[in-house]
Amino acid sequence: MKNLMYLLICFLMIACNNSEVSDTAHDRNEVKGTLVSYSEEGFAPIPKNIILMIGDGMGITQISAGMYMNGNKLNLERFPIIGLHKPYSSDNLITDSAAGATAFACGVKTYNGAIGVNSDTMPVQSILEIAESKKMATGLISTSTIVHATPASFIAHQKDRKMYEEIAADFMDTEIDFFVGGGKKYFDRRETDDRNLYKELEDNGYIVSDYFQNDLIKSELSHKKNFAYFTADNDPLMVSQGRDYLYAATKMGMAFLRKHSQNGFFLMIEGSQIDWGGHANDSDYIVTEMIDFDRTIGAVLDFAERDKETLVIVTADHETGGYSIISGSRMDSLATAFTTDYHTADLIPVFAYGPGARRFSGIYENTAIFRKMKQAINNHH
Ligand SMILES: [Zn+2]
Repeated sequence: MKNLMYLLICFLMIACNNSEVSDTAHDRNEVKGTLVSYSEEGFAPIPKNIILMIGDGMGITQISAGMYMNGNKLNLERFPIIGLHKPYSSDNLITDSAAGATAFACGVKTYNGAIGVNSDTMPVQSILEIAESKKMATGLISTSTIVHATPASFIAHQKDRKMYEEIAADFMDTEIDFFVGGGKKYFDRRETDDRNLYKELEDNGYIVSDYFQNDLIKSELSHKKNFAYFTADNDPLMVSQGRDYLYAATKMGMAFLRKHSQNGFFLMIEGSQIDWGGHANDSDYIVTEMIDFDRTIGAVLDFAERDKETLVIVTADHETGGYSIISGSRMDSLATAFTTDYHTADLIPVFAYGPGARRFSGIYENTAIFRKMKQAINNHH
């Protein structure tokens, strides 16, 4: 009996200790620079490059459906570290993509609709801008327009996500080195002013091209010049309609950015339309977009495995659709249901690979992802 009591006390002490590993404790360790490296697996002690991949609207069910419909496997299974984040925004338990992306990009909880600004609409420096200030190369790739909420929050500062032309103009105030996405019309056929931002990009030394001129993969890149490519006038096509550039743009972007700067790079890659499948309550749409995103994740992991200096983080801003896989489902043939055509407040998985990845285990606020990335950059530079 005495032994049992002793065991119980020990157990309680361990349990109490564990509960003290709060977000602040995590932060304190990070500030001290206690980076847990994967040196035993041959990684660099701290990451030189950061690749953040955002599957918009990609909750656990979207991942599950993609996996079951893809022969019960995904590249996501290759990640050694998994965590969960709390996606709510400052004014709503149900976040939108603007507040969700601003949390990752700038480390602040803000209101739904905010692009790179805090809840008082004041601009907050983004991780992409921090990377630029450290002379790292930077890039954005998305399967929506490049001015859509998720990519926009990394480069623009506007009080409303619908200010597409203002967001496009914010691209001119940065030195982003590589970007690929839709929304050409917000650059070259503007309604709020007479600026031609396509031309301005060229004047600023960019190689600029688009789907109308030539194939992305046939584009000639020079490592001395920045590169911009527009995949559509407005929203890019769905995968099921033939869109296939995410994988190619990602491979191209990683190779380009690595050669572009000796100081490492920050690259954000968004699988934008998993969310749109959720809004449409269309399971096939979700699954095809999920598998396209996962194929791209495979290319990023292949790069990071060879490179050894790249921290890869894959997460989502929120879940969309209240999507479930229900009775009557079989492997490769799913019966599904939706509880909403909007987003939900579900906890969201975070997958991490590479030097510094261990910091991403546990449960934390979405804003902690910014702090963990920033700490990695500060440790390197
Ligand atoms: Zn959405």
